Amino acid sequence: MGHRSSHAQGIVPRYRRSRRLSREHRPATRVTEAGRRDEWTGGAVVSPPVWRASTHLYADCADLAKGRPNEDGQFYYGRRGSPTQWALSAALTELEPGAAGTVLYPSGVAAIAGALLTVLKQGDVLLISDNAYEPSRTMAAQLLAPLGITTRFFDPLDIPAYQALFCDNTRAVLLESPGSLTMEVCDIPALAAIARERGAVSMIDNTWASQLGFAALSHGCDMSIMALTKHVGGHSDLMMGSVSAGPEWYPALRIKSQVLGHVVSPDDAALALRGLRTMALRLQHSTASALQIAGWLAARPEVAQVLCPMLPGAPGHDLWQRDFTGGCGLFSFVLKGSSVAARARLIDALELFGIGYSWGGFESLVTPVDPARARSATVWPSIGTDPQDRLVVRLSIGLEDPADLIADLERGFAAMAGA
Ligand SMILES: *Cc1c(COP(=O)(O)O)cnc(C)c1O
Repeated sequence: MGHRSSHAQGIVPRYRRSRRLSREHRPATRVTEAGRRDEWTGGAVVSPPVWRASTHLYADCADLAKGRPNEDGQFYYGRRGSPTQWALSAALTELEPGAAGTVLYPSGVAAIAGALLTVLKQGDVLLISDNAYEPSRTMAAQLLAPLGITTRFFDPLDIPAYQALFCDNTRAVLLESPGSLTMEVCDIPALAAIARERGAVSMIDNTWASQLGFAALSHGCDMSIMALTKHVGGHSDLMMGSVSAGPEWYPALRIKSQVLGHVVSPDDAALALRGLRTMALRLQHSTASALQIAGWLAARPEVAQVLCPMLPGAPGHDLWQRDFTGGCGLFSFVLKGSSVAARARLIDALELFGIGYSWGGFESLVTPVDPARARSATVWPSIGTDPQDRLVVRLSIGLEDPADLIADLERGFAAMAGA
């Protein structure tokens, strides 16, 4: 009996810290402090231990019968998490002004599905930005359509057309800015305000900017979705997603994820927390490098257009400057004329850029992308640009020295010309 009633106190000395985040702290400070609670670390260590646990023990039958408060941050059963996962979701909540809570998902795609399934039911209509992440489009056809949910795609830069798409059954809007592959920045406050006026829930895939670069809820969105796989993980070694929401939607999100049995492993949560601590610094570095490389690319004769909202003069730069507080290393560029084979010569000649999906890691990546394939409400290349200039290369700039990356790209262009 004795061991059941004795608790861990006494094993770990408690060093209570009085530091707490306040609204005055700046982003770099916030990421180092967020989610750190003495009750999860004992106050003696910096990061919560990896609590690998399915079973959580109760003191006795009376304790079990009473159950435990079914809230976040309460031991109950492994599917509801333990301090490792709670610390990560608390950290993400603290970083998102206006959030009441954050639900973690096994991937970014699972987070998007979790948000959509929380809000939508049979007969509802969903609007999706035409430049959304391609698996979001697939989800509309493969997951939502069979459930009796209709999806309509809209041009995120054409506000009157978007407004005209709303009907009495429009229940949710899925936004993304900058858009995947072609990086269009849209007027999120305007799009979210229209959704609200029409009684629809607005959700944004905020993976590109993260909360450090775009405060989604403060700009009118109801839910902020992230693939933690990208910037938060930051080391290309884990898959995870999150949805943060205010008090209106957080409880429903949490219930739906529990019903669906979503849980993330404590090992992965610990990796994500570790990544989060350096995220501000990594984003700062990759943004500065990306800007330098984008500027260099803009002056190349082989490049028709650089699609990098952080670059002055690039499409979307003005809105980016108005609404965003940061960028990242992901951007694209359009080749002047060129051919699929020439683009492959360019990419294959690169030595420092890995060829692979995903982004936001410490290492630079390159992929050939074909935006035309994943569009229905807009066209690629955009009307007004030369239809010959349609081949796109996407770069994810990592933490290497940008001068080395530029030299690598120079080698790529030489190989492209060399045939
Ligand atoms: C990668 C990505 C996702 C999906 O994340 P996964 O963890 O790979 O499922 C969602 N949205 C955007 C914009 C992404 O780039």
